[in-house]
Amino acid sequence: MVGVIPPEFEYHAPDSVDAAIGLLQTSAGGAKVLAGGMSLIPLMKLRLAGPKVLVDITHIPTLYDFKEEGDWLILGAARRINDLNDSKLIGSKYPLLGDAAAHIADPLVRNMGTVGGNVCHGDPGNDLPACMLALGAQYTVRGPKGSRTIPAKEFYQDTFVTALDPSEILTAVQVPKAQPGDGGAYLKMERKVGDFAIAAVAVQLRLDAGGAIGQAGIALTNVGPTALLAPKAAAYLLKKKPTDADLLAAAKLAAEAAQPAADLRGPVDFKRGIVQTLTQRAIKQAWTRAGGRS
Ligand SMILES: Cc1cc2nc3c(=O)[nH]c(=O)nc-3n(C[C@H](O)[C@H](O)[C@H](O)COP(=O)(O)OP(=O)(O)OC[C@H]3O[C@@H](n4cnc5c(N)ncnc54)[C@H](O)[C@@H]3O)c2cc1C
Repeated sequence: MVGVIPPEFEYHAPDSVDAAIGLLQTSAGGAKVLAGGMSLIPLMKLRLAGPKVLVDITHIPTLYDFKEEGDWLILGAARRINDLNDSKLIGSKYPLLGDAAAHIADPLVRNMGTVGGNVCHGDPGNDLPACMLALGAQYTVRGPKGSRTIPAKEFYQDTFVTALDPSEILTAVQVPKAQPGDGGAYLKMERKVGDFAIAAVAVQLRLDAGGAIGQAGIALTNVGPTALLAPKAAAYLLKKKPTDADLLAAAKLAAEAAQPAADLRGPVDFKRGIVQTLTQRAIKQAWTRAGGRS
C-alpha cells in the first residue's frame, strides 16, 4: 500500500567501507547508503525514493570513531546522534554540538539517526549541518577513486543536493579540536518538542589572547535551501568584546543572510525575526561559555 510499505529492495550489510563502495558501484545508481534510516525509510514509504539496493553501513566497525586526534575531533559517520548527547567530551568541550543533539527529534530518532546521515541527507531542516558550518568542520569521504576531504562550507549545494557522488560514502566528520577560549551555542525555535526548526542558529567563537573575539562562525538552519553561513555577522564580531549593541548589529546581519520561504512554519518576516533574536542570544551564550568578559 502506498504510504506504508516501501517498494521492494535488496538489502546488504557489508562489514567494510570498500565492500560498501563496491555494492554502490555495481548497483549503477540504483543503490543508496542506509544509516539510521530515520530520513530514508520514511521517504521510501512515501514512495518519494525507491532505491533498488540499500547498503547498510552500520555494521562497518571503522565508521564508529569518536576521539580527539591531532587538531581534530573525529566523529565516525555511523555514530548515533545520541552518542553526542550522552558524551561528557561533547558536553564539556563542544557545547554547540551538545545543544544541537539535544534538540534533534526525540530520543527514539536520536537512538537510530546517525551523525553521517544527518549531515549527508541535505535537508535544510537537519540541525547538524549548520553546526558543522559554524565550527569550520570538514568531511572525509571515500569512493572508488579513494578518499577526499570536503569542507562543510563546500558540501551543501542545494536542497537534498550535496557534493557527494552516488558511490561515495562519508566516513567521518572532522571538527577543529576545542581550545581554551572556545565557546559555542545552538538555539532552535520549534513548533513543538521533537519538530524540525522554524529557524535555528549555530554560533562558535574563539577568543584571542586579549580576550576579544578572534574567530567566529555563525550559521543558520531551515531558513534557506541549505544550511547557510552568515559571514557578515561573524566578521562584525571580530576584535570585539561585544556589547548589547554589537549583539543586535550582528544579529541583524544574520537575519539579512537568511533566505526563508513562507510555509507551514510561518511567514518570511516572522522567520527573519526569529533568526535575529536567536542570534543575539546564541552569541551571548557562546561568549559566556568561551569565558568572555566585557
Ligand atoms: C519524527 C522525526 C523527527 C525528526 N526531527 C529532526 C530534527 O528536529 N532535526 C534533525 O536534524 N533531524 C530530524 N530528523 C531526521 C533525523 O535526525 C535523521 O536521522 C537524520 O536526518 C538522518 O540520519 P539517518 O542516520 O537516519 O540517515 P538515513 O535516513 O539512513 O539516510 C539519510 C540520507 O543520507 C544518506 N547517508 C546516510 N549516511 C551516509 C553516509 N555515511 N555517507 C553517504 N550518505 C549517507 C542516505 O543514503 C540517505 O540519502 C527527524 C526524523 C524523524 C523521523
